[in-house]
Amino acid sequence: MSKAFKYIDIHGHANFPNYDQDREAVIERAEKAGVAMITVGTDVATSTSALQLATSHEHMWAVVGVHPTDTKEPIDFEALERLSTHPKVVAIGECGLDYFHSKLDEIPLQKEIFEKHIQLAQKVGKPLMLHVRNGKLAGAVSSVGNAYQDALHILKKYPQIRANFHFFAGSLGDLKNITERGYSVSFTGVISFTSDYDELLRSVPITQMMSETDCPFVPPVPYRGKRNEPAYVVETVKAIARIRGEDDAVIAERLVENAKNFFKLD
Ligand SMILES: [Zn+2]
Repeated sequence: MSKAFKYIDIHGHANFPNYDQDREAVIERAEKAGVAMITVGTDVATSTSALQLATSHEHMWAVVGVHPTDTKEPIDFEALERLSTHPKVVAIGECGLDYFHSKLDEIPLQKEIFEKHIQLAQKVGKPLMLHVRNGKLAGAVSSVGNAYQDALHILKKYPQIRANFHFFAGSLGDLKNITERGYSVSFTGVISFTSDYDELLRSVPITQMMSETDCPFVPPVPYRGKRNEPAYVVETVKAIARIRGEDDAVIAERLVENAKNFFKLD
């Protein structure tokens, strides 16, 4: 493998306006830290800019799709499909179901758009980057329902599709349902400042987890209160190793291997 990187941020938004003043410096800091990056679109415009970044940097790849809270406007699926065939596009997303930020009557459309993304992933032979959030009342099943259960139900129709649940924040039961079906989950820097994820992190089969920042959001310790960036994924990886009681370097290597396998990076 010619590409030498020690860490990978499989979900960040270096394409967002938050980096307009210093984007290249941010990317360079990640490269210097040995961090490869997957930049994720949330609509057609940011999917296009994610791919632009990926094509101009060796250790960057892109994910193209429309975020479930951005599904109210009509979506140009032809444009998404054109982007998605590019070799540097390694997954379709971030797509899925968000019951936290949505009203009940928006959910049927979210499901319809989610399914269109699955069909696109199937057509171009790439995996899915999922954004799934439970509703405010959904400890188990609220009036809104459990978004993870609903997403898994929809995915059942497409058994050949591989998927990663980004920023996993469900229950142990949700995690079990996801990993038993062969899907993976990824964790952000949130795990460095709350113990809420410890049990989940210890329960995930090591081959079914990946590391991410979701930058510019949720910076890890010791960068809390600042803008997050891909280089900080190193702190997420260290937190995973600490919580699981494993060696930093071993975990880092494993997480890179998982991402290479999942996204077919070469
Ligand atoms: Zn995101």
